[in-house]
Amino acid sequence: MKQDKLDNYTSDSDIVNDLASGKRKPHDLYATLQDKSRAARILRMYLESSTGSKLEHIGSATIDYKDTLSRNAENVIGAAQVPLGYAGRLKVEGDYAKGTYPILFATTEGRLVAGASRALAATLKFGRMTTRVIRDGMARDILVRCEDLSEAAALNAFVNGAEGFKLLQDEFSKHTRHGSLSSVECYPAGRDVHLRFIATTGAAMGMNMVTIASSSAARALVSFMNESRKMHLEVLGESGNMCADKKPSYIDVLRGRGVSVIAEVRIPVERLKQAFGCDPNAMLELEKAKNHIGSELAGSNAFNAHVANTLAAMYIAYGQDPAQIVEGSQAITDVAIKSGFFYLWLYMPAIEVGTIGGGTARETQKEALGLLNLGDLGSDASRKAFAEIVAATCAANELNLLAVEASSTLAKSHSELKRG
Ligand code: NAP
Repeated sequence: MKQDKLDNYTSDSDIVNDLASGKRKPHDLYATLQDKSRAARILRMYLESSTGSKLEHIGSATIDYKDTLSRNAENVIGAAQVPLGYAGRLKVEGDYAKGTYPILFATTEGRLVAGASRALAATLKFGRMTTRVIRDGMARDILVRCEDLSEAAALNAFVNGAEGFKLLQDEFSKHTRHGSLSSVECYPAGRDVHLRFIATTGAAMGMNMVTIASSSAARALVSFMNESRKMHLEVLGESGNMCADKKPSYIDVLRGRGVSVIAEVRIPVERLKQAFGCDPNAMLELEKAKNHIGSELAGSNAFNAHVANTLAAMYIAYGQDPAQIVEGSQAITDVAIKSGFFYLWLYMPAIEVGTIGGGTARETQKEALGLLNLGDLGSDASRKAFAEIVAATCAANELNLLAVEASSTLAKSHSELKRG
């Protein structure tokens, strides 16, 4: 059916009937109708009429349907609304984040915003928050299958040499303007070779960017080796899981992925008692027994109190990919008391965030990022500043949960909330 015919001569209810009979598929609407918000409305009407449910709130979204469809999601019918809470002002002295930032959390977990708010206020008033960027680089593992071990060993030697890296770097740079290949780690495993590409990504988190450029570079390498060395290589997969994207993994803890940040909170012991009403020594004891022994016993990579909570709330608020909380939450908290101060350190090896791309152009997410006033959101510095803000907020929130648990108020604080 021609586009103008569907737009001008077919009523919404006729299209709903076509959907119900299977004559038309949901994705046909978006491909055919010029007005994408109309496509969304018709799909909602179809869902409502076929189930008897009402989608009033889902449909009241203010998103730009056309832009959302081109960047973020298919078959869009509206938006999910998640409460957005103001957690307070975070003061950071970082490599890139230098100042005081209003922090927003998107969450449905009662007490999460309140807890972070208490910690941010105490840190702002009495403490000092410092952050440092330790490493930066998005990783993608392209898996190459060789005929046998001889080919795998030859490929490994070539990639580890200057000629191999130059070939990969030249090809990589043809497919991205803002990405730059830093290194390629080669991990042969039998006849298969994992090529872990690591690149800087400008202001973007970079997962699409690095996947496209790495895959093209690996294919050029395969062609070169097959033609010039008479080998029999093929690209077996565009993710060999040594990246490691959206899966718990030691490689991300050790080598990092995205921005690796360490945050340090320092607060006078007496002020900590005053702000949190708890015994700092009890926090110290609890932290070791819980975050280290407890996590070890559980076989967890997350040696922390609840980094995933803070990451989830911030990733959703600021348009990041929430599935990357998996690797991001593999963070290590450590505490000490010295010279009258309580210290908390948080090592976050995999903060995968961007200030451009992904969900950052969506309406509420864009407003949230704008509130941080990071300057040019298209710069590498803004992405790193945002990563430091994320790490610092996680560190403050670690402090809060340890204080709550050390004074045994966790269950009480949750039981005061209405349930169900
Ligand atoms: P993106 O949304 O495609 O944005 C990055 C693109 O923006 C780059 O390719 C870049 O073009 C362009 N760009 C324009 N100005 C830029 C600037 N100042 N700095 C950096 N880039 C700039 O995606 P992404 O950041 O590469 O990846 C994030 C998205 O990937 C998220 O939506 C996430 O959910 C998704 N994701 C994808 C995979 C996957 O395997 N593909 C896996 C996990 C997540 P140039 O490349 O030409 O520089």
